[in-house]
Amino acid sequence: MNRQQMLDKIRKAGVIGAGGAGFPTYKKLDASVEHIIANGAECEPLLYKDRQTMLQEPEALMRGLQIMQEITGADKVTIALKEKNRDIAEKYTPMAEKHGFRFFVYEDVYPAGDEHILVYEVTGRLIPPGGIPLQVGCVVDNVETIVNIAHAVDEDRPVIEKYVTVTGEVQEALTLRVPVGTPFETCIGQAGGLTTDEPVVLTGGVMMGGISPDLSNPVARNIGGLIILPEDHYLVKKKSTPKESYTRIGHGQCDQCSLCTEMCPRYLLGHPLEPHKVMRNLLMTGEAKERASLWAQFCVECNVCTMIACPEGLDPMHICIDAKQLLREKNLARTDEEMKRLVRDAHPVRKGREIPIQTVYRRLGLTPYDRHAEFDPVTVRPGTVILPLDSHIGQPARPLVQVGDRVKQGQIIADVEADALGTPIHASINGTVTQIEARGIEIKTS
Ligand code: SF4
Ligand code: SF4
Repeated sequence: MNRQQMLDKIRKAGVIGAGGAGFPTYKKLDASVEHIIANGAECEPLLYKDRQTMLQEPEALMRGLQIMQEITGADKVTIALKEKNRDIAEKYTPMAEKHGFRFFVYEDVYPAGDEHILVYEVTGRLIPPGGIPLQVGCVVDNVETIVNIAHAVDEDRPVIEKYVTVTGEVQEALTLRVPVGTPFETCIGQAGGLTTDEPVVLTGGVMMGGISPDLSNPVARNIGGLIILPEDHYLVKKKSTPKESYTRIGHGQCDQCSLCTEMCPRYLLGHPLEPHKVMRNLLMTGEAKERASLWAQFCVECNVCTMIACPEGLDPMHICIDAKQLLREKNLARTDEEMKRLVRDAHPVRKGREIPIQTVYRRLGLTPYDRHAEFDPVTVRPGTVILPLDSHIGQPARPLVQVGDRVKQGQIIADVEADALGTPIHASINGTVTQIEARGIEIKTS
């Protein structure tokens, strides 16, 4: 099989970044690189789905990496994970070494899974601000994505299942492998049910994930975790604060201590990103506000400044998000000359400012939820699934089916145009299409 045939199979199978980003994998791999990094760092607290993927499917992980080597020509392969998963590195080092792969074990810190940080730690190379690993000869993919690559190329198996950790206010924290589109409530039921009367779901992760009060929402191809918290939990309140409130409070209370900048992981990599200067834009208007907003251009919304750094409990991350919106509206960005002047090497004390994961648990009130989420081998068979059409970056898929159509598991039910960025969507169960709605295509078993 040649390189293009493998890429076609990966596209046709609907393989996208399973760690959260949802970038179509065929596009990412259409390049020549020196180094492949398998991202098993599982950056977000409380999640175990990468751990369980590696434990359940080690052969597929190795095979996926081989395929990636064939496609990209990479001569180095590193599987990166955190100290909490050192046992996996020890167990599978002989298997990896047979293929010439190596493990890299990183401290239990947040945000270890950030591509810029991972590439720097593994290779010593700095990706330019706003850039991608390809610019320094690397490709980084989540371990579950790599497993899906193996299934796509060797078995023509589409992405119709998803590993997902269900934790927080549930009887038993578990990692499940469920049909894509399974409702949150089905996953919660599998985890023994709720332990709170007022649940809110944090999707993807406590630091970078969004919130969803609707338990009928589906597990998309890029969701790795459902963290259920009571609606009065600090994190839920913080993530639900309206713009008017965090802006007003930030305006009145920021004392410019600059701790948000001093702890920003991307600032510490030398990027021109200084959230304390962005906070100043709350006091400004017009051109001055626009200039101050440029200090937010390279913010990746990791939430360290808001959740960990700020001693006043302010929300510099959201101020940065709003500032980036202003930059988009005004079509503003750093000039090449400014970049030459402002981009630096990694900060000499960067390592000392990484945030131990236990600190994250304590600061966010998550210590009571710090449980291992073991793999549950029970096959989950939802009666209904909703297949989102926009879980990948690029053009949303267009439905190829109509309400009333009977569909088979694995059948393509939506697709993007041939030359557009995106992937097809497959039915994850046998059944009948009952609705095509904003959330996606609903299929019920019949
Ligand atoms: S969210 Fe805050 S800490 Fe994270 S990249 Fe943006 S400015 Fe830096
Ligand atoms: S850490 Fe908080 S108080 Fe200090 S500069 Fe940043 S936003 Fe302002």
